[in-house]
Amino acid sequence: MSAKLIMGTEIREEILKEIKREVDEIKAKHGVVPGLVTILVGENPASISYVTLKIKTAHQVGFKEIQDSQPVDISEAALLALIDKYNKDDSINGILVQLPLPKHVDEKKVLNAIDPDKDVDGFHPVNVGRLMIGGAEVKFPPCTPAGIQELIVRSGTKTSGAEVVVVGRSNIVGKPIANMMLQKGPGADSTVTIVHTRTKDLAFHCKRADILIVAAGVPGLVKPEWIKPGACVIDVGVNRIGVNEKTGKAILRGDVDFDAAKEIAGSITPVPGGVGPMTITMLMKNTLKSLKFKLGIA
Ligand code: NAD
Repeated sequence: MSAKLIMGTEIREEILKEIKREVDEIKAKHGVVPGLVTILVGENPASISYVTLKIKTAHQVGFKEIQDSQPVDISEAALLALIDKYNKDDSINGILVQLPLPKHVDEKKVLNAIDPDKDVDGFHPVNVGRLMIGGAEVKFPPCTPAGIQELIVRSGTKTSGAEVVVVGRSNIVGKPIANMMLQKGPGADSTVTIVHTRTKDLAFHCKRADILIVAAGVPGLVKPEWIKPGACVIDVGVNRIGVNEKTGKAILRGDVDFDAAKEIAGSITPVPGGVGPMTITMLMKNTLKSLKFKLGIA
């Protein structure tokens, strides 16, 4: 039997339509739209293409969007002053600093200078703390984990009481998604296990999972025999395993042996087209939320 595919490409369109509808309503009622600024330092091609996609999506949902490109030799002080300017700008609800930053700039210092109430990436320690507390404290869940949770919920997967196993303990995926799934409330209430490079028996834990979330960055790490029949498998891994000679584009693979896993799992995300499209979508959702908090309608 072949698993149901959880298509991020389709769920993204659904969510973007919902965001656009809300933006139009807020504009009609309050005369404002969400404002998002993306600060890009230097000309890293991967960063440029990522930022371009963010801008395109922000326009699609009717946001005010500013792309603030800065030279690679901008000083740390000038960058901090720029963030201070946007922190004070009433028309801006979300500030995003595209990483990586040049070596002479202290990345942590810069990210921590963003007003936590405009930190739509959700990486500021204040927002990490809010996420840990859970419930109404949470303002901006980090975008990739928030996208993962949306995929789980919108695919109709039962989470309450489910055994969730998360492979990977990074600050941007593993730890936050594990934390989100164990909170009280809809889309969560799960029993969570995190496994990582020092875990003794990875297969043993994965086999127990009703929902298996894999974010290791190791192509084909999860073998089909590690998957519980009928499980929901969320493959976060994006691994470039070569280049398509005809198109010149990178060939991407996830952390799960997809072809074999889809014969065992109940539902599964493909790579590409699963988790990937959700990150920018959730960034838009967080920016809209930021404006709603400000207007007191969140
Ligand atoms: P990371 O390298 O920061 O963390 C990987 C984690 O996996 C580590 O905690 C490590 O302990 C664990 N791990 C690595 N190898 C392992 C092994 N053999 N056995 C058990 N655990 C192992 O990576 P990350 O930033 O969390 O990203 C993980 C993957 O997800 C990458 O492929 C990345 O490209 C992808 N990713 C995708 C998106 C997206 O689609 N939007 C966003 C973020 C990350």
